[in-house]
Amino acid sequence: MAFDNYFKLEFEAKNINESFARSVVAVFCTELKPTISEINDVKTAVSEAVTNAIVHGYQNKGGQIVLEAGITGNTLDIVVKDTGVGISDIDMALQPFFTTKSDEEHSGMGFTLMDSFMDCMEVKQNTPSGLIVHLKKVIKG
Ligand code: ATP
Ligand code: MG
Repeated sequence: MAFDNYFKLEFEAKNINESFARSVVAVFCTELKPTISEINDVKTAVSEAVTNAIVHGYQNKGGQIVLEAGITGNTLDIVVKDTGVGISDIDMALQPFFTTKSDEEHSGMGFTLMDSFMDCMEVKQNTPSGLIVHLKKVIKG
């Protein structure tokens, strides 16, 4: 897809970079004049996707996360990719409260939050391994 504006960023899967990633996307989408509420929705969704890559994809052992965002008209597209362990049953993982880390205070609400704060969420396997999370939101401003 040809975007009006686009960036691609690769960064280390460390907790400290979760706030970096969400801030980058928040700044990138300011040209769409989002409301505070829309910015917060986008930040929360990016934060959940990146945290998942760090904690689940790479099991807190580090790796590379690719973050892409594109603007087409007033639509913001965001892609978060990792090449970690991936998910064998994506449909199950998307269910509210499903978590493989209940012992570490994860509630299994990450995907549910991404889905509710954004207009569209698509989750698929990365090749040869890992996960791709595609998020989309129309910024009404
Ligand atoms: P919470 O987000 O509430 O802290 P959670 O991360 O377990 O809890 P979700 O974000 O909804 O909940 O993810 C559900 C499950 O999907 C995770 O427990 C994990 O098993 C799997 N998962 C999510 N993202 C990834 C990923 N990038 N790589 C591998 N597995 C993942
Ligand atoms: Mg999560």
